[in-house]
Amino acid sequence: MTAAASYDAIILGAGAAGLMCAAVAGQRGRRVLLLDHADAPGKKILISGGGRCNFTNVHTAPDRYISANPHFAKSALSRYTARDFIDLVEAYRIAWHEKTLGQLFCDGSAKQIVAMLVEECAKGRVEIACEAPIAAVEHRDAQFHVEFGARTASAPALVIATGGPSIPKMGATGFAYDLARQFRLKVVEPRPALVPLTLGGEEVLFRSLAGVAAEVVAKAGKTAFREAALFTHRGLSGPAILQISSYWRNGEAIGVDFLPDSAPGWLREAKRSTPRTTLARLLGAALPDRLADTLAERLALPTELANILDGKLEAAERRLADWRFIPNGSEGFAKAEVTIGGIATAGLSSQTMEARSVPGLYAIGEAVDVTGWLGGYNFQWAWASGWAAGQAL
Ligand SMILES: Cc1cc2nc3c(=O)[nH]c(=O)nc-3n(C[C@H](O)[C@H](O)[C@H](O)COP(=O)(O)OP(=O)(O)OC[C@H]3O[C@@H](n4cnc5c(N)ncnc54)[C@H](O)[C@@H]3O)c2cc1C
Repeated sequence: MTAAASYDAIILGAGAAGLMCAAVAGQRGRRVLLLDHADAPGKKILISGGGRCNFTNVHTAPDRYISANPHFAKSALSRYTARDFIDLVEAYRIAWHEKTLGQLFCDGSAKQIVAMLVEECAKGRVEIACEAPIAAVEHRDAQFHVEFGARTASAPALVIATGGPSIPKMGATGFAYDLARQFRLKVVEPRPALVPLTLGGEEVLFRSLAGVAAEVVAKAGKTAFREAALFTHRGLSGPAILQISSYWRNGEAIGVDFLPDSAPGWLREAKRSTPRTTLARLLGAALPDRLADTLAERLALPTELANILDGKLEAAERRLADWRFIPNGSEGFAKAEVTIGGIATAGLSSQTMEARSVPGLYAIGEAVDVTGWLGGYNFQWAWASGWAAGQAL
């Protein structure tokens, strides 16, 4: 075997966080090796945001992230902000637009974001090695030794940036957790998040609505999101459901308000103003026909409103405002946009992302137990945590 090439830092994973970290450290004069087993860097960036990459959110704030320690993300997010990333995007003349709810997308293509990050790495003389499956990582004499392919590299600093296991088809793995455990770092149990939920039992009937969407408020516990929900062949999806999936636990119910704009007492009011109408017709005015029919059928109030007791109308109104679905599962890591859980933040410095118990070892991005809402928040965490570690290397 050839002698180990030596670097100041080796970064495992050339995704969003790894690319940012490598560029920052490289431009600070560090000799950086960036490794990935995929054939090109930034593959998840390329498929993100429907190919246009929702690269940040202007409303980024720590309360839009889920973590065992809700304070952990604060430092990194405040030191590298959405504005900082927008400035970088603009320096590369990448045109962008705000789609909705503060979500920023490229006008052109996600390829521009990857090209920008690769160029930033080139400015820092980062050596990027793709198609480099990592065979072993060892730590001795204050150096990390990484075997990949036929090569070995060593450095006093090692950054875990291999993301989470969502979308294994894209090369995603649980490698970060294996490595963390190798170094005795704790891992908060990973589970799929921003993921469609599946319906079974009685609720399979809703599957006949596949393709129907409506703006709803989806709720789990005290958390609620007002966005579109979409019925699918397997259950429920759409932004409102993806968001709430991150707060949902197996066996629990989610609530859906199908008529978030209706005022309390609206059904009794409708009975007085339009007594000859039916519930199905009333719902049809606010919701897609198929959904209105299905809900009306399930509420089993087929006659004209005039013939329905006020108490029954009130009960129907309550149900429409908090329709309980008990998903029998989710579509899992195969369809999850991100992973909740990951390397426990308790073992990491929130300033630098360095492991408290293993000097020189860092973890960033999705590998860490910090998960953002849908809408550009996860990339902003990748950029911010990558930047924080890049400053410390
Ligand atoms: C379909 C989809 C769309 C998304 N859209 C958005 C969006 O628009 N906005 C947003 O904010 N977030 C979005 N996300 C989430 C976002 O992609 C992730 O949060 C982000 O990529 C995490 O960055 P990361 O660098 O931590 O991990 P990744 O970007 O996943 O990078 C990890 C890298 O490590 C490499 N790797 C993994 N295992 C190994 C191994 N064993 N050896 C070597 N290399 C390895 C992978 O090949 C990969 O390149 C989307 C996710 C998906 C799946």
